[in-house]
Order: sequence, then structure tokens, then C-alpha cells
Amino acid sequence: MEVELISCPGCGEEFSPYVNKCPHCGLHMHKRKHANVTSGGSMGMAIRMMVGGLALVLLGILFAWWSTL
Ligand SMILES: [Zn+2]
Repeated sequence: MEVELISCPGCGEEFSPYVNKCPHCGLHMHKRKHANVTSGGSMGMAIRMMVGGLALVLLGILFAWWSTL
């Protein structure tokens, strides 16, 4: 799995979102804030919606099966 790089607002160089300081110009970053907004945010939401939908479907199947008994 590859780590998505973030670009430094100070010098424009890319570096790991897991460091809180740019290795190129030394600019301090707020830890992982930008990385979460660009990559993790929407993806996590999609997964949560998928899991929620799946749970609803399973619940529906369970109720349908229950009513046939
Ligand atoms: Zn920099």
C-alpha cells in the first residue's frame, strides 16, 4: 500500500503526511489534517454508507425470513 504524499504549501515539494514538518524547507504542518480531507474523508464516508446499506439489507432479509416461519 502506497502512502499518499501531500504537497508543502511553503515550497511545493511532496512529502509523507505522517511527518509534521516539511523535510525540504522545514515548514511545520498540522498533523495529517490535509491528507484526511483530500483522501481519507470521502473514502471513509463511502465505506461507512456501504456498510450501513449492507446492514439494512441484511436486516430486511432477516425480517422477511422471520415472517415466513
Ligand atoms: Zn516545504
